[in-house]
Amino acid sequence: MKLTAREILDRLVGFPTVSRDSNLALIDWVEEYLDGFGVTAHRTWNADGDKAGLFANVGPEVEGGIILSGHTDVVPVDGQKWASDPFTVIERDGKLFGRGTVDMKGFDALALSAVPLALERGVKRPLQIALSYDEEVGCTGAPPMIEDMTRILPRGAAAIIGEPSMMKAVTGHKGGVGFLVTVRGFEVHSSLMHTGVNAIMEAAKLIEWANEQNEANRAREPGPLTALFEPPWTTVHVGQISGGTAHNITAGECHFGLSFRCVPSEDPEEWRAAFEMKVAEVEAQMRAVRPEARIEVERYFDVPPLRPEEDGRAEAIARRITGDNGRHVVSYGTEAGQFQAAGYSAVVCGPGDIAQAHQPDEYITVEQFRRGEDFVSRVVDHLCA
Ligand SMILES: [Zn+2]
Repeated sequence: MKLTAREILDRLVGFPTVSRDSNLALIDWVEEYLDGFGVTAHRTWNADGDKAGLFANVGPEVEGGIILSGHTDVVPVDGQKWASDPFTVIERDGKLFGRGTVDMKGFDALALSAVPLALERGVKRPLQIALSYDEEVGCTGAPPMIEDMTRILPRGAAAIIGEPSMMKAVTGHKGGVGFLVTVRGFEVHSSLMHTGVNAIMEAAKLIEWANEQNEANRAREPGPLTALFEPPWTTVHVGQISGGTAHNITAGECHFGLSFRCVPSEDPEEWRAAFEMKVAEVEAQMRAVRPEARIEVERYFDVPPLRPEEDGRAEAIARRITGDNGRHVVSYGTEAGQFQAAGYSAVVCGPGDIAQAHQPDEYITVEQFRRGEDFVSRVVDHLCA
């Protein structure tokens, strides 16, 4: 059944695919939609079997196609004040309100609306659809899906990741790597604190290290690519911390999350190594007091940067279609870096403004949505040439 992009958007937003919940109802719907056009969908399952990514080849089974990629999960609405039901698209004042309208079911809907266009116009190279899960919890769903795609589908020439960029061609973004840190100290009465290990105060040393890195990075002169970013340096951030039980007990445990946002010219693995060296140093000090004290570090997300490509195919296509010739980079991570890491030429280009993402009363303007429709239609034309 042929639906307009707007009708598809209504359906997709109607599935409350918050990252912590299953996305299978949405995936089932998309599979049935594709099946209606004789297009075979493939799934990549998560370990628990309650979520899946979906990908498909539309048109001839040949290399050189274009991938339109989006994520199916959305951030929660808990505690947010919405003027209307977040999971029903409402049009008001030239805006389409609803959770995921801009981030990024709007683009998912546009990509799916291009499927019948590709078949009707008879593309010579395939349109490929890639819909992931768990993007909002650290881009963990895309890598296994991309791996399956490289095995199962003919190799695409370019991947367009439709995160909201106001239809600008974004060719670079920072990479991110995040750690959950557990400091295990030793409890004693605080009057005898020199015989215990205070996990909070030891954690503070690692957090102070983060402060020092930020200052040093900020003071460094950025290279030409790094200078495009805001801010033009790698940042280290601690956004959560908990620990301790009483003011007069050395804290037995402290938990915190520490993450890096790395400019593309720097290697997140080197930052990880530097952090782990500091962890080892602090841990040695702790163990000198109590040998059972320790620090555990668990990586919980890892998003490679998107590096601007020399003569990138994806960039060239996005620029030709949008007419945008500016240089754009963003400081948030996307799945584009993961497609690039798997050897695809990749660019971020999608409708709407990231400023509306994750907000109460999230919306995409009707104007941006129309520009998105025009964009995917021209992607299909490009595949016919
Ligand atoms: Zn997104």
